[in-house]
Amino acid sequence: MKTFSDVIVAGGGPCGSFTALNLAKYGVDVTLFEEHGEIGVPPHCAGHLNIKNLKRLGLYPLPTKIVENTFFGATFHSPNGKEFSVRFSSPLTCVVNRTLFDKYVAEMAEDAGVHYCLNSRVESVIIEKGLVKGVAVKQHEKAGKKFLAKIVVDAEGISSRILRQTGLPTLNRHMLVNAVQAEVENVKDAKQNMVEVFLGKDYAPGFYAWLIPTLDGKANVGLAAKTGNPKELLQKLMLKHPVASKKLRAAKILQISFHPITLGGSIPKTYLNGFLAVGDAASQVKPTTGGGIIFGMTCAKVAAEVAYEALRKNDFSQEFLSVYQKRCEEIWGFDVNVMLKTRKMLDAMPDDKIDDAINFCAKFGLDKVFQNIEDIDFQGRSLLRILWNPRVPTALLYFLLLYLL
Ligand SMILES: Cc1cc2nc3c(=O)[nH]c(=O)nc-3n(C[C@H](O)[C@H](O)[C@H](O)COP(=O)(O)OP(=O)(O)OC[C@H]3O[C@@H](n4cnc5c(N)ncnc54)[C@H](O)[C@@H]3O)c2cc1C
Repeated sequence: MKTFSDVIVAGGGPCGSFTALNLAKYGVDVTLFEEHGEIGVPPHCAGHLNIKNLKRLGLYPLPTKIVENTFFGATFHSPNGKEFSVRFSSPLTCVVNRTLFDKYVAEMAEDAGVHYCLNSRVESVIIEKGLVKGVAVKQHEKAGKKFLAKIVVDAEGISSRILRQTGLPTLNRHMLVNAVQAEVENVKDAKQNMVEVFLGKDYAPGFYAWLIPTLDGKANVGLAAKTGNPKELLQKLMLKHPVASKKLRAAKILQISFHPITLGGSIPKTYLNGFLAVGDAASQVKPTTGGGIIFGMTCAKVAAEVAYEALRKNDFSQEFLSVYQKRCEEIWGFDVNVMLKTRKMLDAMPDDKIDDAINFCAKFGLDKVFQNIEDIDFQGRSLLRILWNPRVPTALLYFLLLYLL
């Protein structure tokens, strides 16, 4: 097996594979190490994605077996059961089977020439004189195999093991929420083409719960929380929530997984000499919803572009690679700042205010205003666009009062 590549990618999730795919399209020689024996297994995600942004990445339409449902909007449920829906005239989002989605991106990358090594865990990066030179890998239980490259891309997800070793700033641990995600069957009266969101500190303190119906009568149900035991909170949601329990009391859990979500926005530095971090590893996740696939893959595409330029110029210095961070920030810097502020505001809102706010949104016809939000991933810009609607400043004033009272 060859021990030198132009680029090594650590991690075969969507962001690692998408970096590798884009590099291979430029003709770059890439080796990708994935610690598991199968791509996309075990899954840990609801798989809810914006269609427009998938198209932007060149990934939509997806093969039909990957897309489990499409959605025209969302219904938000307040803690005491009030609801507010936003519905569009055409599908805005879809839910993908994460295992099949990850495999699909990996297969495209492999077809483009990426060399995949499964059962291969990157244990550490090799750093010489301040330059990342390669990785040490445990392959099929054999530790310490060395592989060298001009650039190493860290796409190992939220664990941040490699990042810690490089000395780069890691994820803000205070901005982590613990999530649980379950595939269930026998759901009653799910709104087939709407995602349902349940708010309230009793069920998902510091975040929210979701119900995402899939076409075969099943659903992805989950929640994330800053405090409390996610499994117990999920049971409480399914058995006691005034609305969710009616749909989920008789549901059977087929598969369940637990995983943290980072809500802190990108780490402040994502590059070093010969090194880039992408996806959850770099906390490239929306602070409002924890969605990281579109954000991370958008950055993965930029990482591939910058790594290719570095290879052409034979310059792997952090000065050169810093352009990766600059370009990513140009794409989402503003949106992430708005989302971080929104997250803070939502966290500080007591349940009775959430009830009032949802009631107000429904009564004030804000569903019509929110229908103009096409871009659920880059929410800062969407917010600016809707601000021009005369109903919105009034609503904001109301929210401000709610916040202050
Ligand atoms: C419950 C839950 C629900 C979510 N729902 C959504 C959603 O609906 N929409 C959305 O956009 N996002 C969602 N997310 C977030 C989304 O799952 C992540 O943002 C996304 O998976 C990030 O992709 P990634 O490639 O960076 O990391 P990952 O998907 O975590 O992939 C990392 C890969 O690297 C491998 N790996 C790790 N360390 C090593 C190593 N040292 N060597 C080799 N391989 C390694 C892992 O095995 C894994 O395959 C959710 C997250 C959770 C927890």
